[in-house]
Amino acid sequence: MTESPAPRRPHPAAALKPPEEKPMEAKSPEAPKPKKAEPSVAAREKLPFLLDFFPLETPEQTRLHRFYDRLREGRLSTTRCLRDGEIHWPPRTACPKCRSEELEWIDLPEKGHVYAFSAVLAGAPLGMEKDVPFAVGLVDLVGIPLRIFGRIEGKPWTDLRIGQPVRPEAYDIGDGRMFYRFRAVD
Ligand SMILES: [Zn+2]
Repeated sequence: MTESPAPRRPHPAAALKPPEEKPMEAKSPEAPKPKKAEPSVAAREKLPFLLDFFPLETPEQTRLHRFYDRLREGRLSTTRCLRDGEIHWPPRTACPKCRSEELEWIDLPEKGHVYAFSAVLAGAPLGMEKDVPFAVGLVDLVGIPLRIFGRIEGKPWTDLRIGQPVRPEAYDIGDGRMFYRFRAVD
């Protein structure tokens, strides 16, 4: 591999580095680069899809769009198999146990306890760089056999403890999509 040219759009992490001493755009005018593959301005401004932490949520994009519709109503939910009662996490379009597609949506309990947690101190997913440090963890929901991973807000991670009561909450990503998080409660 030869030295690659300057990236069209620097990775957000590059903003943390001091600018390079030599500007890379000093190209010789007699060797213009082919412009055919240049993405549109809109495409360049979007975050790279493969590095997008959050799923696509519309009915055209996922058969699980109801999960996000319900989050928009403040309800964290999942699927349950009508045939054998199996509760799935994450929600499914078919039961992994019996393969039935006859599933129903159920709301998950609004109480849980931290089973385990850690903190993201560096290397956060794209778009979460400003939130560092933040806590992530596994939460046991009360009354249902599910242990769910997610971000934990509401307390500095240094104050979190195993068993900390939390509740799930809907989180507006800000680009029209929703996700869930947990919030420490006392
Ligand atoms: Zn089933």
